[in-house]
Amino acid sequence: MNLTRRELLHYFGATAATGLIGPGCIGWTREEAIPVDSWHKSVCRFCGSGCETRVGLRDGKVVKVEGLQEGWNRGRLCIKGLLNREILYVSDRAQYPMVRKNGQLVRVSWDEALDAAAAGFREAIAQGGPDAVAFYGSGQLFTQESYTANKLFKGGIGTNNVDGNPRLCMASAAFGYKSVFGADEPSGCYDDIEHATLFFVIGANMAECHPVVWERVRDRLRTAPQTRVIVVDPRRTPTARDATLHLQIRPGTDVALLNAMTYELLRTGLVDSTFINNFVTFRKGTADSPPLTLENFQKFLEDYALEKVANLCGLSTAEIREAARLFGISQAAMSFWTMGLNQQTHGVAANRMMMALHLLTGQIGRPGTGPFSLTGQTNAGGGVRDTGSLAHALPAGRVVTKEKDRHEMEKLWGLPEGRISPNPGLSAVPLFEAMREGKVRAALVMATNPARSLPNADRYRVGMEKAFLVVSDSIFPTDTAQYADVFFPAAMWSEKEGVLSQSERRYHLVEKLVEPPGEARSDLDILVALGERLGHGALLKARTPEAVWDEWRMISAGTPYDFRGMTYARLKALPGLTWPCPTEQHPGTCRRYVPGEDPLAKKEGRIDFYARPDGRAIVYLSEQGPFREELTSDYPMTLTTGRRLEHWHTATLTGRIAQLQSIDIDYLEIHPGDAAVMGVKEGDMVQVTSTRGSVRLKALPSMRVRPGVVFALMHSTEHLVNAATSDYLDPTSAQPEYKLAAVRVEHVKEGT
Ligand code: SF4
Repeated sequence: MNLTRRELLHYFGATAATGLIGPGCIGWTREEAIPVDSWHKSVCRFCGSGCETRVGLRDGKVVKVEGLQEGWNRGRLCIKGLLNREILYVSDRAQYPMVRKNGQLVRVSWDEALDAAAAGFREAIAQGGPDAVAFYGSGQLFTQESYTANKLFKGGIGTNNVDGNPRLCMASAAFGYKSVFGADEPSGCYDDIEHATLFFVIGANMAECHPVVWERVRDRLRTAPQTRVIVVDPRRTPTARDATLHLQIRPGTDVALLNAMTYELLRTGLVDSTFINNFVTFRKGTADSPPLTLENFQKFLEDYALEKVANLCGLSTAEIREAARLFGISQAAMSFWTMGLNQQTHGVAANRMMMALHLLTGQIGRPGTGPFSLTGQTNAGGGVRDTGSLAHALPAGRVVTKEKDRHEMEKLWGLPEGRISPNPGLSAVPLFEAMREGKVRAALVMATNPARSLPNADRYRVGMEKAFLVVSDSIFPTDTAQYADVFFPAAMWSEKEGVLSQSERRYHLVEKLVEPPGEARSDLDILVALGERLGHGALLKARTPEAVWDEWRMISAGTPYDFRGMTYARLKALPGLTWPCPTEQHPGTCRRYVPGEDPLAKKEGRIDFYARPDGRAIVYLSEQGPFREELTSDYPMTLTTGRRLEHWHTATLTGRIAQLQSIDIDYLEIHPGDAAVMGVKEGDMVQVTSTRGSVRLKALPSMRVRPGVVFALMHSTEHLVNAATSDYLDPTSAQPEYKLAAVRVEHVKEGT
């Protein structure tokens, strides 16, 4: 069935403006007529908003998904939430294990596939040692699965080559929080939205990418019309349409803008001096660098006076001044951001400055305040960041470079001292480069599609081709599976049991409700079976989702995370719990660091940044720095990428849903002035070329983008947009600069 976007929204009973499904906006829905045998609490498996759902079953199948009234989302879902039902039954569900024989993947038994995978890993280790193998995971795995993979590879095999796709989307935020507050993850919660008087949204198209959170913001705007919204985005997105002030910034200049706003706040005295004096230090570079003074910081900011940076940012001084003024005078400012801020070579600096705005104005630790990065994937936070399933990390905020942290984990995992390597492993992009160079000889890729999602993707496909690649996915084929030597069919979402955690640190339980297709198994079962064959069965004593969860929550004890009170029984009964939650009586924490609210905040007073040794958060002197890729006469335009409401990531799932087939995802937004110069009309083919590669897309002249900027969706399944994107990395977080590539756009004439 092919439907227009409007028809699609009507089909799902959504509001045409946002595609939201909820009690206040449901009209007629086809699902209403479907009888249901039983209802079960669950969570949407797509974005990091983490909408709570109830799932209707009939005859052993999921037949209906609705928003949970008692959930934070108040019964609302976006279209993707409803599509949780459809994704289980799309074509191409992977059903059988496969091994490559004579160049073809052929169906084999589980034993044969697992034996082949283990043999490939053993051979790689024999040739190159433990660091010749790697795990590349996903924010779509359950927490128990990421935790077990991390334990198997770092504690069992002895390599820190454990990374995943959250490196591509959230690493700069994670490094920002850790360096500023001493601990990762946002301090506030969704309830803050009802108290905010200003929303500062930078590098996030929430109306499409976190639509249910955005609808809560819009609720606030409806009930408190004096509330202001500032949106910083190079595109005039649906989010920007709700803005009081839209700063259509030049891509990649966020640090300069945030420094300029800070300069203006200090110049006009719109800062909280008491908060600064009591709870903030100033530093340059790293958290253990010598402390500086406020005067040092003010001197540093002189280079960011409005008139000095406005041109660089593509904004007027008046726009920047107004943004600073609105932030400074607001009673309660809440900021949201996501990939637009993170996916830059200045991503950590931009995150630090976003947090600095809150610290300098004391806009944190009160209702309606706080820096709040939104997670892209459903479990990038809880599954990957919290469990430390990244190349530099260990569970619950520990890091591999600290001896004390390694020894703690060795003790907790029952390993001999010295078992965990002190060397950080390879993060996502260097990992695939090492495969290309033959240094990493075997890798297990779970629940993600790096052949399409990596920047400069063609380069890293060579590595996938060269290495012994084991792929586990619930869909076959995928771009990545075409390089697999062994393929494992994976169960997904309600076909298996596990825990997910979303942007406000809320953990939810997803129960197994239906059987997976064919012989598909959970990724946890796959990891345990592979671990057994690699000789690490004794390490993986916890083998059921509940046993792994119980082990994991005890490992969080005594850390700035503390999930001990989140028992399975509570997660089954409640619509999620937010951490810290140290006891089984604790209701979960909405605002971290606030004495009286956060059980880990022991000091009396306004706030206690307890994860920092001196109890003070850090404001960093953060340079804008040069562009890694300057525009030239050969590459005179900037390519930036993003998402749209109806689709998800590389569209491995949503691209297979019949009702979404008519949603166009293969276009390039280009300013009408730029299109006119090239003689390009809507629907004409254009070729977008960077120094790395090129992609052909249909032109869509649009005032949504600035002159000189073009925009493509990351979802495109027919065209590889990531052939052209940049794989330059932030030097601290190793997150790639997807949001900024110098390109040339050419009109493709018929026949060429
Ligand atoms: Fe799912 Fe995100 Fe949509 Fe909520 S906003 S229904 S979590 S995709």
